[in-house]
Amino acid sequence: MTHVFARSSVAHPPVASHGEGAYLYDTNGKAYLDGSGGAAVSCLGHSDAHVRAAIHAQLDKLAFAHTGFFTSDPAENLADRLIAHAPEGLDRVYFVSGGSEAVEAALKLARQYYLEIGQPQRARIIARRQSYHGNTLGALATGGNAWRRAQFSPLLMEVSHVAPCYAYRDQGAEETTADYCDRLIAELEAEIAKHGAETILAFVAEPVVGATLGAVPPVANYFKRIREICTRHGILLILDEVMCGMGRTGTLFACTQDGVAPDIVTIAKGLGAGYQPVGAMLCTKTIHDAIANGSGFFQHGHTYIGHPVATAAAGAVLDRLINDKLVDGVTAKGDTLRSLLTEKFKDHPNVGDIRGRGLFLGLELVRDRKTKAPMDPALKIDAQIKKAAFAQGLICYPGGGTIDGKQGNHILLAPPFILTDDQAQELTDKLFRAFSDVG
Ligand code: PLP
Repeated sequence: MTHVFARSSVAHPPVASHGEGAYLYDTNGKAYLDGSGGAAVSCLGHSDAHVRAAIHAQLDKLAFAHTGFFTSDPAENLADRLIAHAPEGLDRVYFVSGGSEAVEAALKLARQYYLEIGQPQRARIIARRQSYHGNTLGALATGGNAWRRAQFSPLLMEVSHVAPCYAYRDQGAEETTADYCDRLIAELEAEIAKHGAETILAFVAEPVVGATLGAVPPVANYFKRIREICTRHGILLILDEVMCGMGRTGTLFACTQDGVAPDIVTIAKGLGAGYQPVGAMLCTKTIHDAIANGSGFFQHGHTYIGHPVATAAAGAVLDRLINDKLVDGVTAKGDTLRSLLTEKFKDHPNVGDIRGRGLFLGLELVRDRKTKAPMDPALKIDAQIKKAAFAQGLICYPGGGTIDGKQGNHILLAPPFILTDDQAQELTDKLFRAFSDVG
């Protein structure tokens, strides 16, 4: 008997008891290798002594001070350090409690910015199909996941959705990568022209698509061209790095690998690494100053913004990522894991693609790897693999669904940055066994 209102009323998950390094344990003593960090959260693993000590120290000093009255040292220090490592032009950090909140804050900031500078007609968001930006109403409207949106559609604002950059499935057999990129850009330009550039507030995208596609990076130059279009039309570029940020792809901010700097970027999951619920939105000086010199008040705010313990934890996470150079190891560890997976699954008929960046990898599930025929989402093979892997003692993150009738399913991997070579092998072997168990 439980009084917890669980995600699922039919699943009966085991009780998690403790975590140690790359493993979680349940109350029966069973160990689970955390191959996906939950959902790309636990970038440091589960018992980081430095982060725990920072949380304890902050708690002993100050647990909470409302930002309507105070600021705090951990929030100030963390903001300074994030900006020091952020893409060029980003200058201010607004702290929240998670990813959806960060996206909501970004959307509202974009709107208020244009009101402050006298362009109230800008109200339309353009985002991408097959994207996920969170479950609150603004973020849900922005995302393109049809299944997640369906029952709430009467409550959602109207958002334009264009194609994501998903070369494995959408690039034509005869089409060069440059031509494919041209086609995506032309679609965006057409959508902007259809509504009038002066009505568009922002373009929102994940640099590497996580939950809906399974670690899909863009083709070369895609984001540079998006950046150019946004700048030319005065449209804000909002990059959602809630899942792919904080070193997951090998650089602290994923978009630096694409050579672009957004006007606003959102981060969460890896920011607190699971030790505290914390997210953030970073914006340019131009945006911040328009409000500072205008109304002087960003009309937003949640009770827990800039929470001292949460920001202290995130500061300690940053110590580990930057000072202890954990981010520097991500690309090599990702290459190792990817090679192991590629070798193990090279003849598997139902794995069409293994892709990603750093320790953010996806395996696309197909009916036939030659034709790329997608899995029937109704079969929920991804969920079956999750279950079989869990039985083996491996956590991996399923994804997929009926999106545009095109996408099948995938398995997302996002292990901690402390992953050893032996653990990469264990992950690969257990995942392969899970595929075999599903048949
Ligand atoms: N944005 C992206 C890209 C995400 O992947 C997620 C969560 O998976 C969110 C936003 C929402 O974050 P949260 O679940 O912390 O609200």
